[in-house]
Amino acid sequence: MDTPLTNDLLDAWDRESFLHPSTAWGQHARGETPTRIVAGGDGAHIEDRDGNRLLDAFAGLYCVNVGYGRTEIADAIAEQAHKLAYYHAYVGHGTEASITLAHMILERAPAHMGKVYFGLGGSDANETNVKLVWYYNNVLGRPEKKKIVSRWRGYHGSGLMTGSLTGLALFHRQFDLPLERILHTTAPHYLRRADRTMSEADFVAACAADLEALIAREGADTIAAFVAEPVLGTGGIVPPPAGYWEAIAPILKRHDILLVADEVVTGFGRLGSMFGSTHYGLEPDLMTIAKGLTSAYAPLSGSIVSKRMAAVLEKGTDEFGPIGHGWTYSAHPLCAAAGVANLKLIDELGLVENARTVGTHLVAGLKDALGHHPHVGEVRGEGMLAAVEFMEDPAAGAFFPAERKVGAKVAAALGSRGVIGRAMPEGDILGFAPPLCLTHEEADTIVAATTAAVNEVLG
Ligand code: PLP
Repeated sequence: MDTPLTNDLLDAWDRESFLHPSTAWGQHARGETPTRIVAGGDGAHIEDRDGNRLLDAFAGLYCVNVGYGRTEIADAIAEQAHKLAYYHAYVGHGTEASITLAHMILERAPAHMGKVYFGLGGSDANETNVKLVWYYNNVLGRPEKKKIVSRWRGYHGSGLMTGSLTGLALFHRQFDLPLERILHTTAPHYLRRADRTMSEADFVAACAADLEALIAREGADTIAAFVAEPVLGTGGIVPPPAGYWEAIAPILKRHDILLVADEVVTGFGRLGSMFGSTHYGLEPDLMTIAKGLTSAYAPLSGSIVSKRMAAVLEKGTDEFGPIGHGWTYSAHPLCAAAGVANLKLIDELGLVENARTVGTHLVAGLKDALGHHPHVGEVRGEGMLAAVEFMEDPAAGAFFPAERKVGAKVAAALGSRGVIGRAMPEGDILGFAPPLCLTHEEADTIVAATTAAVNEVLG
């Protein structure tokens, strides 16, 4: 389009024609909520069509990990598009980009991981994982071992199966979810413990006991897998309490329950380690990857399958024929080319290390500025993930009533200062997941703007 449409016209078309994800559709159609038409970006900043330049401290949806405007990735996509825009990956077909990317992922993944299946987004990759788990137990002659356990506050997507795995009421309500076979266990969110007198160690022991009780109630021979993010993401950006994974992993092993590490957010450097599994010493059977795999320059996800599990799945196809699973766009060459260029860039720019150092600086800055605010219950973070959780009275363990919308108001006040944070669902939680290329100065800008926004809304 040579002459850009006016914002007024685009705004009208938007409200008439476009059903946006995670949006109040009625309010949006009636023009009661603001829109933003994003036109460009570079580094950690985006620019909208009204000429506003904003520091995107959420990297889109925690996905633009290398930052905006990287020509290396754009060029790799263009080159692939000119050479071969598409060929499928069915029955053994591939492209140089998709095969190279699978190899590069395994070079970076924990050593016991063996093979990669490609999808398009985090939701479909988790859908694949559930199918692989069920297939695996059928191959092993355990048709009853099919239930999947996830955590309240976990986020694993919003499809039928993945929305069921997600432990947030918004994603179940009015959709007749969760589906049967999906069970939820305690969220490892110490700040929100029911018994305020519990120590962190007691709380971890209670999380483990809750999981044990659920397994005993349902029967270990009916439970196939435990699906979890190494750090709770959309459920509030909550790093696990000390000792959590050390308590949970042996329970899963003892009951022969597979561990699916959903690394859609934590994969490729966000925690300051290449993967959350390496960060916390987990040995997953499956890992879900997406977002940071291409830094969202093109849609691509993957399921990394352990060597042990891959051997069983391969035995299964010897017995039952080709795997009855595949998407037209699995391993799409344009996305794979983006992935290859992106992983190279993460290495060349030292972004895993930068996530650790600048992320630590960001969390420390937020703690210094807001840790003692009378309405801040907690400032927390790990690597380039951070959150501030607001409470009416932290000492009394009292949270704000939801209708006060404190989190949303602080996020809006922050936005008006040119910084994008995210009001997380279920609680008054302001989340940050900036691009991994964030600088120290940009981290300081986030801290200053957040402090001013909190003081504006909460005094
Ligand atoms: N898993 C996790 C941990 C996520 O954070 C998300 C999305 O935010 C998903 C899965 C779903 O990914 P997608 O939105 O690409 O389907």
